[in-house]
Formats: sequence, C-alpha cells, structure tokens
Amino acid sequence: MKIRLDQVVKSFDTFRAVHGVSLEVASGELVALLGPSGSGKTTILRMIAGLEYADGGTISFGNQDATTIPVRERGVGFVFQHYALFPHMTVSENIAFGMKVSKVKRSKKAIADRVEELLSLVQLEGLADRFPNQISGGQRQRVALARALAVDPKVLLLDEPFGALDAAVRRDLRIWLRAIQEKLGITTLFVTHDQEEALDLADRVVILNGGKIVQEGTPEDVTRRPNSAFVTRFLGDTNRLQGHARGGQIFLGGANVAAPDIRDGQAEIYVRPADLEWTGEGEGVHATVTRVIDRPDNRRVLARLDNGEPVELDVAPETRLARGDQGYLKIRRANVFAG
Ligand code: ATP
Repeated sequence: MKIRLDQVVKSFDTFRAVHGVSLEVASGELVALLGPSGSGKTTILRMIAGLEYADGGTISFGNQDATTIPVRERGVGFVFQHYALFPHMTVSENIAFGMKVSKVKRSKKAIADRVEELLSLVQLEGLADRFPNQISGGQRQRVALARALAVDPKVLLLDEPFGALDAAVRRDLRIWLRAIQEKLGITTLFVTHDQEEALDLADRVVILNGGKIVQEGTPEDVTRRPNSAFVTRFLGDTNRLQGHARGGQIFLGGANVAAPDIRDGQAEIYVRPADLEWTGEGEGVHATVTRVIDRPDNRRVLARLDNGEPVELDVAPETRLARGDQGYLKIRRANVFAG
C-alpha cells in the first residue's frame, strides 16, 4: 500500500515542528527518514500512524485519504524504541495481544497458529513462554516487530527500533529486518538519526532538517550528490577544507578543483577520506602525516595541511606511511559549496 503525504504541517503551540512535508513511499518500498534530533521525524511518523493529527495537508494510504482516520482503523503496525512489551505477558501473549483486542474476531486456534508463524518469521521459536525481562534487548525488538505484524498491517512504521542496542546487534537486526520486509513486501517507513543505518537499510532516504525535507534519493544519490553543505556534513565521514573560488576553479594549497557552478569567493570543499590520494612528491596539496590508524581493510591516515587544517584519508593497508612523513594530496572527487 502506497503512503503519500502532501504539504503536511504540524505545530505544537506556536512552534512549527513540520513545515509542509510532501513525500511518497511506494508499495513495498523501505524509506528511511533521516535527520538530526528535533528535525520532525517522529512527529511525521506519529501523524502517519494517527497518534497525532496534521494541522494542514493530507496523508493518504493508497487512494484513501487517511488524514483524520483514527489510529486503530489505519491498518498500520508500529515499533517504537520506547514502545515497550507488556512485562507481565509472555512473548506469545505479547504477540497475540493485538489479535485479541482487534475488531476482527479470530478463533483461539487461529491466534495460536498465527503466533507460531510469527515466532518462526522472527526466529524466536524457543522463547515463546519467556517474559520480556528474560530475553535480550535485540530479542525484545524482534518480539515487538512480530507483535506489530500480527494483525497484517498494510504499512509498517519503525521509530529508532534498534536505538537502544549496541552496534553489532544493530547491524545484525538491520540485515534481518530488511530480509523480513522484502519477504512480506510491506511498505515501510523507518526513522533514524544514524546515517549508516539509513544508508544500509533503505531503498530511498529522505533527509530532514528543521521540519523540512532537504534532500531525498537513493543512498547512492545522497552520498555521491549531496545538495548542500548540511547534507554532506550530516552524512559524515568527510573532510571540510577551506578554499577560494575563481572562474569555476577552487584554489587550495597547490591543488585546483573544478567547480563550474560556484560563484567567486570563499568556498567549502568536502572530500571523503576515500577520495583523497597520497603521493610522495609532485602536485597536490602539501601535507604532513600526524597519525596512522590500522583498520581491518585499510589504513586511515590523519594529516595536517600547511595552513593547519586537519585531513583524513584512506590508503591501502600495505602503504608505508608514518607520523612526520610529508607528501601531497590529490583530490579525486569533491563536493563544493559556497562558504
Ligand atoms: P529525535 O531524533 O530527537 O527523536 P525528531 O526528529 O524525531 O527528534 P520530533 O520528535 O518530531 O523530532 O520533534 C520535532 C520538534 O517538535 C522538536 O523541536 C520537539 O521538541 C517538538 N515537539 C515534538 N513533540 C512535541 C509536543 N508534544 N509538544 C511540544 N513540542 C513537541
């Protein structure tokens, strides 16, 4: 089921949290809403869920206007970071809960069969009779997902569902969630402030700042072609260097970067560590190595330009470099914005 938001607005008293947001999630698509704290992600999700009503604009599911439909009639499943399981119910009882209170009446047998099916889907068969405090945080979020899926929602809304878990568990759950989402083909909107999570998981990423969409596209689009300094910095792992633009070129130490669309004046040059190349001599920006960090598949080199600006670059693991070495940086690719 397709979700569509058209010029949705939401204020809390005099504070406008969402400023005319329009977006579409195609049937079966997984879209991540990504943005810093306070950018309006949760508010947008809560309006789609029906936990909050929009002040203006429309929200539709398929061809139906859902803007003012009550939450229980929307056919949405949601998992929130703090939307805890019922502590006095077992895993099975938690999963069955939505079916028991639903308007659609099901026999005991039908509920038990569905619980079995969901336990197997989320790979928790052995834990049916445990209570939430007897399972791990990652397992709890899997139960929360099974509970959300129990009533066959048309749309799945996830708000930082893995936010409280450690990095390794988060990564596993990401892969696991993606597999389930694809298997069920369920239209999914996923809120996160973690750029790596959004880029790994989503078909499309919608980036918010101050209650507005600032860019949307595939993970490749937004990482390769960020449309602003904000998006570039927010996506992270990039160097920011100061340069000077003149006649479609940026001058930076001994290097020039072509930037045909930029006006003359101060410029900010963003370069990912993987897009910088180190050469012992020749052309480029002169730099001195300050530290070398060994990582599983490359070496991260921290260096300093002659003007004192720090830069980071990735080199092949066998590259011989040590603190104090001097050389030149070549810029393979950069994103340039007026400073
Ligand atoms: P986070 O990543 O921190 O959860 P978010 O992007 O989800 O942030 P929202 O929770 O949607 O942001 O909040 C957007 C803005 O609206 C924030 O400035 C917040 O303080 C404000 N806000 C949200 N809910 C309410 C409310 N019930 N009453 C007043 N202000 C609110």
